[in-house]
Amino acid sequence: MGFIQKIQQFMMGRNGFDSFTLFLFIISLGVSSANFFVWDYTASLILYGVQLLILGYAAFRVFSRSVHKRSAENRMFLKIFNGIKNFFVLQKNRIRDIKKYRYRKCKYCKATLRLKRRRGKHSVRCPKCRGEFKVNIIV
Ligand SMILES: [Zn+2]
Repeated sequence: MGFIQKIQQFMMGRNGFDSFTLFLFIISLGVSSANFFVWDYTASLILYGVQLLILGYAAFRVFSRSVHKRSAENRMFLKIFNGIKNFFVLQKNRIRDIKKYRYRKCKYCKATLRLKRRRGKHSVRCPKCRGEFKVNIIV
């Protein structure tokens, strides 16, 4: 049996590499880089410990046989991560569209709608849930 096949057999039924693990690796790299600028011995040692803990957890996730639990963690991570990412994308779009559009949340389904910038009170129909509600665009 070849080396690759041995690894493949070893990894069978294990979680393997996922987005959350990648994120943990990046965070541990960040901690390691930050540690480069820390001159205090004790603080540096603590940061090193934190880095090892993160790497240990990442390794545990890769080799874990509780695939269901790990993929639930990964889903939770992606939900939070995408939520944060979408928030920043929305702020970026708000600035980009500031002259032509205004962004408002649908009262019913919480979807974010991009509305033409028309001053005053308007009735809006959400294209996602068909719910109708009033918006007031002041500026
Ligand atoms: Zn809606």
